[in-house]
Parts: sequence; structure tokens; C-alpha cells
Amino acid sequence: MPLYIYEHATNNPNCPRDKEFRWEQPAQDWPLTKCPWCGDPVARVMAPSLLKIKKFDCELKDQGFTKLVRVDEGLFENRTRRAGEPKYVDRHNPETFPILEKTIKD
Ligand SMILES: [Zn+2]
Repeated sequence: MPLYIYEHATNNPNCPRDKEFRWEQPAQDWPLTKCPWCGDPVARVMAPSLLKIKKFDCELKDQGFTKLVRVDEGLFENRTRRAGEPKYVDRHNPETFPILEKTIKD
């Protein structure tokens, strides 16, 4: 069964659950509208497919994302580097920035 994340609309100190909690339910079921423990209104904040947050760098690249990982003050590793882009992006050197124009055209 998919696992959903719900969020209380209120801050009920008497609820045994946190403001956000996980709730397992069949995908075809309607989303909960009330907390099963305290009865306060809740809203589903994440669809099950979004629970797969971990994306591989190659997936991001294929989808047109750019991923920069900070390695030092003002220095980032370009994990989705495309042809012609340097491996490291220096905040002070625009020539090292990812080439958006190339990403868009590809
Ligand atoms: Zn509750």
C-alpha cells in the first residue's frame, strides 16, 4: 500500500502524532480529511510517486535539470555537466557557469 504524508491544519497539543505524519492507505481510497487520532482537519501533502525523492544525477540531466553541489565557499561541483561545461562552477567566474542555452537547445 502506498504511504502518504498528511499535515495537520492546526497545532493540536493533544494529538499523539506530529504536525506531519505518515499514513498508509490504498491508492484508490479518498484522502483523509480528519486526523485519525485527534479529529482535527488534515491535508495530504505528498503524492506517493513524489516519495521517491532520490533522483540520480543522470536522470536529472536527462530531464533538463542542473545540479550544483557546494564543495567550498563559492565553489560548486556541476553534477549534471554537459559537453563544454567545466566540472566546477566558481561564483566569481561566469565562464564556469552552466550553459543554459545549450541545455534548452538539446
Ligand atoms: Zn491529530
